This record gives sequence, C-alpha cells and structure tokens, in this order.
Amino acid sequence: MQQLATIGAVYIAPLVGLIALYWIKQKNKSRNAPKVYRQAAEPGLLEPASLHPVIDTVRCVGCATCVGACPEKNVLGISNHTARLISPSSCIGHGACKTACPVQAIELVFGAATRGVDIPLVGEDYQTMVPGIYIAGELGGMGLIRKAIEQGSQAVAAIAKNGRRGQASSLDLIIVGAGPAGISAAMAAKAANLKYKVLEQDTVGGSIAHYPRGKLVMTQPAYLPLVGEFQFRDTTKECLMAFWAEAIAKTGLDITAGERVDAIDKDGSGFTIITANSTYHSSNVLLTIGRRGSPRKLGVAGEEHSKVVYRLIESHQYRGKKVMVVGGGDSALEAALSLSEEQGTEVILSYRGSAFSRAGVKNRERVEAAGKRGQLRVELNSVPLRITPDLVRLKTAAGEEDALNDNIIVCAGGILPTAFLEKTGIEVKTRVGSQ
Ligand SMILES: Cc1cc2nc3c(=O)[nH]c(=O)nc-3n(C[C@H](O)[C@H](O)[C@H](O)COP(=O)(O)OP(=O)(O)OC[C@H]3O[C@@H](n4cnc5c(N)ncnc54)[C@H](O)[C@@H]3O)c2cc1C
Repeated sequence: MQQLATIGAVYIAPLVGLIALYWIKQKNKSRNAPKVYRQAAEPGLLEPASLHPVIDTVRCVGCATCVGACPEKNVLGISNHTARLISPSSCIGHGACKTACPVQAIELVFGAATRGVDIPLVGEDYQTMVPGIYIAGELGGMGLIRKAIEQGSQAVAAIAKNGRRGQASSLDLIIVGAGPAGISAAMAAKAANLKYKVLEQDTVGGSIAHYPRGKLVMTQPAYLPLVGEFQFRDTTKECLMAFWAEAIAKTGLDITAGERVDAIDKDGSGFTIITANSTYHSSNVLLTIGRRGSPRKLGVAGEEHSKVVYRLIESHQYRGKKVMVVGGGDSALEAALSLSEEQGTEVILSYRGSAFSRAGVKNRERVEAAGKRGQLRVELNSVPLRITPDLVRLKTAAGEEDALNDNIIVCAGGILPTAFLEKTGIEVKTRVGSQ
C-alpha cells in the first residue's frame, strides 16, 4: 500500500501536474484565436503575402508547438483543437512552424487562389531544373533579409558538396547579384575554397542599397560564413550598408559591381556567362538576383512624365509638394509615412485593394494612425486613371476626381525577370496556394 502511495507521489502526481499545465497553456493559446481571426477578417486581411503554412487538420494534434515556434505574435493560433493561420496577412513566411511541427501537419505554400505568385522551380538543394544553376534569396519567393542570408550560404554548401567541378582554369561558381543572398553566398564560397566571382549590375547591397534614407529595417539574427553572427533586429538602412561594406572589406570578397549578366548559355562542362564587358566560364551559377529587376508600372496615360518615379530615396526632395504614393505593400506604406513627415508635404496613399493585406502590422498601424491624425490621406479601393503635369485623375469608391499633384511614387513591386530565367532554361510556375 505504502509502495503504491510512493509511486503515486513520485510519478503520477507530477504527470497529472504536467498534463494540467499543458492543458492550461493550450487553453490560453486558443483563447485569443477567434478574436484575432475576426480582427483580421473585418478589414479583409485574410490573404497571406507570399510563403505561408497550410495546416492538415486531420494530422494536426493541436499541440501548439507551431504557435510557440512562430517568431511573429498572433499569426498562428489554436482553434477547435487544431492550429490555424489566424492573421494570414501578418505571416511573413519564416517557415519555423513547419520545422517545429512534430507530426508533419504543415506544408509551406506560395500565393493564394486570388493572387498567384510566379516562382521558379527549385529543388531542396536550391538547384533549378537546369543542373548546375541554383537560385537563392528573394528570387525563390522568400522576401526577408535573414532568409536571403541563410539561403545564400545553404545553396553554396550544396554546391560545395555536390556541385559540378570544372577545369582548373575555369571558375567553380559565378554568383549573380550582390544583395544579402549573394554576399552571404560569396562568403560561403570563400570559406569553402571555391573559385568564385560575384557579378552585380548595380551597387553592392541589393534592395537594401535602394531603401529610402533612414528607413527602419526589421530583421533577425543570422549566421554569416567567415564573419559570424549577423546580429541585427531593428536597425537602419545606413547601419546595414556600413555593416556590409566592413564585412566585404574584411573578407576581401571578389565582387564586381556595375556588371550586368545578360545571358547564361550552357556549354560542354558548365556555363558561359555573358555580360556587357566580358565573358566568363563557370561550372555552376547561383542566381541571387532578387525580384525587383524592373518595377511594375501602372500602365496609365501620362505615366511617362518625369514626375513619376518607382522608388523613394530622399523624402526631403518632396518637401512642400503634393505627392501621390501608389501601392499597398510595406515599401508603399513606408514611403507614404516618411513623406508625410516632411513639412508642408501633402500625401495621398492610393491602393486598389480594400485593405493593406500585403503590408506588415506595424506599418498598417502607423498608416492608420497617420490617417486619423490627418497627416496622410488614405484612399483604399482607388486607381489612378490618367496623369498630367499638374494632376492625377483618381477613381475612388466615391467617384472620379482630379487631385492636384507634383509627384507620383509608384511602389507596386517588381516584375520577375521571367524572360531572362526562361531563356536560361529555368521553369517558372504561378503558385496559387497549393504545393
Ligand atoms: C522598400 C523595401 C523595404 C524592405 N524592408 C525589409 C525589412 O525591413 N526587413 C526585411 O527582412 N526585408 C525587407 N525587405 C525585403 C529585403 O530587402 C529583400 O528580401 C532582400 O534584400 C532580398 O535579398 P536578395 O539578395 O535575394 O535580393 P536583392 O536584395 O533584391 O538583391 C538582388 C541583386 O541582384 C542584382 N541583379 C539583378 N539582376 C542582375 C543581373 N542580371 N546581373 C547582375 N546583377 C543583377 C540587383 O541589382 C540586386 O543588387 C524590403 C524590401 C523593400 C523593397
């Protein structure tokens, strides 16, 4: 009898305690889920921007490991004993949920039924359907600095392990593009003693080099070969650019800026890479060219006026002007906010959608607050119809109006360089939320 009591005290009581604790934790995790979902559904924020989880509700055991693993707050929740994407448009595709799920109930998919995303076909080793050509970073569909850094070095690890090896005179690897993915790939290539070269059409830094001055950058730590930890969380464009410059100088990376790759042709033992200035031969090619090659245009009359630009660099250039920002993603919202802080600048933020579902929560909240303060005019469900030197004809829910206008900044994203990819033999598929 006494033995039974001892077993109860030593084993059963702690077990019951643990189960109770787990149950309470689960209850807490599911408590908020319906409310968060309703809050997202009301303004129509139910469409994920890009990569996001799809949960197999039959397999899911409702353990909430994915909820705890997601670095974002209130994106996943537990509802009816299964995991659910409760704030879909706040999901930025970390993918931590899939890795954490103990029962493999999560798949990561791109796009949605209502909005397809063009993604080049890439295997788990980052290799495309053309053996020897690899893709990493945002071109593969994942739009985050940390992910670009991770993928750049992971792709090179795969190349170092299983990639082709050419003659002694040729390169092992050409990396095209020197954004975060290309820089991290170059560091990994150097660390692995590969004969490599980076070709960048513009300046080193990729998209970061073109962020508006002083832009707040939200990222997460990552590991960079040769350098160690990339320790940033909330930082600025300038800090990041200074970090890249120092890291590149310290590691002595072989990067040629101002050299655009125009074509990649297969040859017997690898590839011929053709630029305006030169021709290279390499056994492998890693494309880290991002997705912003050419900006998406509005396609309206008058768009050719020089007052229409596709990127904001300096807000103070627009001081005292009447500016329209067109777009609904983070870059549009950040541009509109930054302009609205300039003295005397009147800003209209025009977006064709009914909610800023492609932008992050913080930016959405800042825009809402600025709109309420009257610092910014937000026109959802609106489209510019015609542009003249002094006006923009804007179609809104209330009808059409001619808004006085000095400048238009179109932040409608970039067009995937599909022609370049397809010429290279790489297949591109429009993904609509399925595998
Ligand atoms: C306005 C804005 C704000 C953002 N804010 C954040 C943020 O706060 N946090 C975050 O994590 N992410 C943010 N992002 C996303 C982030 O910048 C990208 O996900 C990241 O830079 C992708 O890195 P990448 O190396 O894959 O591509 P990119 O940085 O786009 O670099 C690609 C490089 O390839 C070069 N290239 C293209 N074609 C060729 C060619 N044919 N030959 C040679 N070179 C070529 C380009 O010139 C470019 O330098 C933001 C993006 C934008 C536009």
